[in-house]
Amino acid sequence: MRAQPKASHFISGTWAEDPTGDVIESVFSATGEVIARLHEATPALIDRALDAALAAQADWAARAPVERGRILQRAAALLRARNRALSELETLDTGKPLQETLVADAASGADALEYFAGFAATVTGQTIPLGRDMAYTLREPLGVCAGIGAWNYPIQIACWKAAPALAFGNAMVFKPSEMTPLSALALAEIFAEAGLPAGLFNVLQGRGGVGAALASDPRVAKLSLTGSVPTGRKVAAAAGAALKPVTMELGGKSPLIIFDDADLDNAVGAAMLANFYSSGQICSNGTRVFAHRAVKPAFLQRLAARTAKIVGGDPLDEATQLGPLISEAHLARVLGYVAGAKAEGARLVCGGARLERPGAFMAPTVFADVTDSMTLAREEVFGPVMAVLDFDEEDEVIARANATEFGLAAGVFTRDLARAHRVIGRLQAGTCWINAYNLTPVEMPFGGVKASGYGRENGHAALEHYTRVKSVYLGLGDVDAPY
Ligand code: NDP
Repeated sequence: MRAQPKASHFISGTWAEDPTGDVIESVFSATGEVIARLHEATPALIDRALDAALAAQADWAARAPVERGRILQRAAALLRARNRALSELETLDTGKPLQETLVADAASGADALEYFAGFAATVTGQTIPLGRDMAYTLREPLGVCAGIGAWNYPIQIACWKAAPALAFGNAMVFKPSEMTPLSALALAEIFAEAGLPAGLFNVLQGRGGVGAALASDPRVAKLSLTGSVPTGRKVAAAAGAALKPVTMELGGKSPLIIFDDADLDNAVGAAMLANFYSSGQICSNGTRVFAHRAVKPAFLQRLAARTAKIVGGDPLDEATQLGPLISEAHLARVLGYVAGAKAEGARLVCGGARLERPGAFMAPTVFADVTDSMTLAREEVFGPVMAVLDFDEEDEVIARANATEFGLAAGVFTRDLARAHRVIGRLQAGTCWINAYNLTPVEMPFGGVKASGYGRENGHAALEHYTRVKSVYLGLGDVDAPY
């Protein structure tokens, strides 16, 4: 085993283990090798983590925000200093190529810590004049927040949740995906080294059951989930029963619309990034590429030529551009969508099969002549499979782009900026790009609408989701009582 951590969990500033918990194996999906063996958290460990978080939170909330920020800054510096080791760990755990993890994972986590470290000390309330009297508001932390992560961006997801939670005075118990348990533990160690008091960031391993236990526990004041729509429905229902606020970052089937006046090379590059980066395992991917009929032949020709040059291989080799999918089981699911698309009459332009090498690798795949009713145009595949659809008119493409239960993201490529803003204004999506795709800087709020979720991560918007407002009425005169 190549990445065995000291123990499975991190609770109250130290490693924790209970070997009676079910075994969880982390597999390097490029080779099938087991790189770590951990145990699921038992109820006793869940209890310990929540108690530790509860005990630590009040003192943390009472600290000066600038002091909280200083600790997060130190953690960010440690993440950056250890970027290579963390990226190698993330590559082993997820299979994503090192070429990506070196720039996109721990680095974006550090961005979040730096951003919210600086934000912490700027949070203020309002004063509200009321004639003789007045009122003011305070922004208070919520208490113990639970974070539940997906497997595609494990350390980024952990940081996107922990950074605002901690900056604004909360504690966090985080459960990574069972598929990618490792980097959250490395983050917990870094927080401890940066001086974060024990109990404020705890990591529990486990499958859905551990997440469900966190969702329903009365010690948890707020829940933030990154995952699929079916899991989102379950977690939101559990949280709703207890009237707990939740942030839901769920799946998508996002449209990327390419008008006939677009810069075609840029549009091709963006469509490739929007479908093949991280082997297509990105929630906000533009997996329904609507190409205007006038440019479709040129678009497909350039797309096929550039896609043929993508280098798949050992993800630990920095020259590799395409790694394996997260697991053999997931690859089988994605190949099932490919078979279904062929059976439903979509035209395979390239790819469509696993790569001729060991590991869960799949060739980048493009289907053309996809129609709105095909399964490939309706369901989230979460693999390197692009569906290209044709359109003629602006109104038509907007209506078709919106005809989905999802609403995470959308993109428009055109040189006509009036049209770009007009179209974006009518698309039902939480995160949009004009002449760009999938850029998610921490300064910009990120999240979805419709079945893709609610709440926002990052940007100023995150303040709403990790604090609550207390209103204070200040009586400055005599009490006017009629009795
Ligand atoms: P899942 O929904 O399968 O799992 C997400 C997390 O929830 C995992 O940690 C999982 O545990 C846990 N979980 C499962 N069941 C429950 C439950 N009943 N109660 C509480 N927690 C539970 O998603 P994946 O991990 O397969 O990730 C892929 C999905 O995530 C895609 O749909 C993708 O679009 C979405 N996603 C959304 C993003 C966004 O920001 N909008 C970003 C990234 C991904 P375990 O897996 O360990 O069993």
